[in-house]
Amino acid sequence: MAEYDVDLFVIGAGSGGVRAARVAAGHGARVMIAEEYRVGGTCVIRGCVPKKLLVYASRFALEFEDAAGFGWTVAGAKFDWPTLIANKDKEIARLEAAYRANLARAKVEIVETRAVLEDAHTVRLLKSGARIRAETILLANGAHPVLLQIPGAELAITSNEAFHLAALPRRIVIQGGGYIAAEFACLFHGLGVEVTLVHRGEEILRGFDDDVRRHLRAEMVGRGIKVVLGGKIAAIEKRGHALQATLANGEHHPADQVMFAIGRDPNTRNVGLEAAGVKANAAGAVAVDDYSRSSVPSIYAIGDVTHRLALTPVAIREGHAFADTVFGNKPTKADHVNVPSAVFSEPEIGVVGLSEAKAREAGFALDIYREQFRPMKATLSGRATSVLMKLVVERGSGHVLGVHIVGEAAAEMVQLAAIAVKMGATKSDFDATVALHPTAAEELVTLHNKV
Ligand SMILES: Cc1cc2nc3c(=O)[nH]c(=O)nc-3n(C[C@H](O)[C@H](O)[C@H](O)COP(=O)(O)OP(=O)(O)OC[C@H]3O[C@@H](n4cnc5c(N)ncnc54)[C@H](O)[C@@H]3O)c2cc1C
Repeated sequence: MAEYDVDLFVIGAGSGGVRAARVAAGHGARVMIAEEYRVGGTCVIRGCVPKKLLVYASRFALEFEDAAGFGWTVAGAKFDWPTLIANKDKEIARLEAAYRANLARAKVEIVETRAVLEDAHTVRLLKSGARIRAETILLANGAHPVLLQIPGAELAITSNEAFHLAALPRRIVIQGGGYIAAEFACLFHGLGVEVTLVHRGEEILRGFDDDVRRHLRAEMVGRGIKVVLGGKIAAIEKRGHALQATLANGEHHPADQVMFAIGRDPNTRNVGLEAAGVKANAAGAVAVDDYSRSSVPSIYAIGDVTHRLALTPVAIREGHAFADTVFGNKPTKADHVNVPSAVFSEPEIGVVGLSEAKAREAGFALDIYREQFRPMKATLSGRATSVLMKLVVERGSGHVLGVHIVGEAAAEMVQLAAIAVKMGATKSDFDATVALHPTAAEELVTLHNKV
């Protein structure tokens, strides 16, 4: 043991790394964690948390509009971007401080530097040049936004910069069709920005259920977001104080900001994987087994750098499972089955389990229950919107394989439905549950129409 400075060295103090460090320390390990930017990682500093705060901000506009049908006059409502960003930054600083305090309480030593692997047991701290010998090393160093390699790419922003814009743009062009692109398109639109979403595929939100994908796009378009499918920005130029995005088909889109939200690549470059002999997989992520162990027995990897399911609660679970396995004498596999997820678009999406297409691909015979209805609130607000609910059910056993909701509070609903799905609930269990009236969620237990 004495040949090592620490029992565990964690590279990256994000969602997964912080959980792994704290739990390992709780098991009695001497732990050091390196962070090159800010403690808390993507989720806290420039991901889930600030995004949700911006989403909340953007939704007030809808509430003000909807209020009229309920008798309210909301006069003189004004929005101030710098106030929102300043308040958001204060909250993020508070969270970062809480993360630091929790690590300190767990007796985890934080080193504020980039760290790279030198060999199977050595990490080099780039700021000081110091070498730390560790019995076990955990790569929890996340992912980064991908940039399009096109002329003028340096003029574009990614989600990283979107959280710190000095001014709210009047017009934005967003390239991308994933959940981050959809969320930013909706939140900027809610804040009054003219939004054009350019996606090279035939439909947004690849991987989600096809009905959900179509439904959200129709809602986005209905609310005034321009969606260009089968399109790709080929160049960005400066035009006075503004920018111009030119698509591959020659179309010009003037904008104040152009944003790339085309995906995130694992941080596997320049971190010493080759020096240590750690193998990457075809996706360019660190290849790991079910226990998050890499090709080098003393090096593990969790979270976005492994590109399994790039979500915060998953990184946290993987970090916890790793620490229990290696330091808690309790081998635990990370569980990736029936993980719920959301898109905080407008309207919101909540999903757990298999899409209809994935369930068919997996060979299930299916019953599909689907309902599209006008939410009660829209009757007085007059908003042209509808809620989509869909259950993917295994014919025969009746097991609910997938729950898909698009509508207000869909994420909140699906978190609860996920318990039932995880427990193996059947359609009869859903049917046996008495409705809670009047809610949108009650439709989940009264879905009778097979399609
Ligand atoms: C805009 C956006 C919105 C998102 N919204 C959601 C959401 O709503 N729900 C959800 O579940 N997930 C969301 N995610 C994904 C979520 O943020 C990630 O899945 C999660 O943060 C992954 O955790 P991690 O520990 O693997 O990596 P991270 O949280 O990214 O942490 C990695 C840390 O390592 C540091 N680092 C990297 N290299 C080094 C190095 N060599 N030395 C030292 N430090 C290093 C980085 O600075 C970073 O702090 C969102 C992501 C983005 C970008």
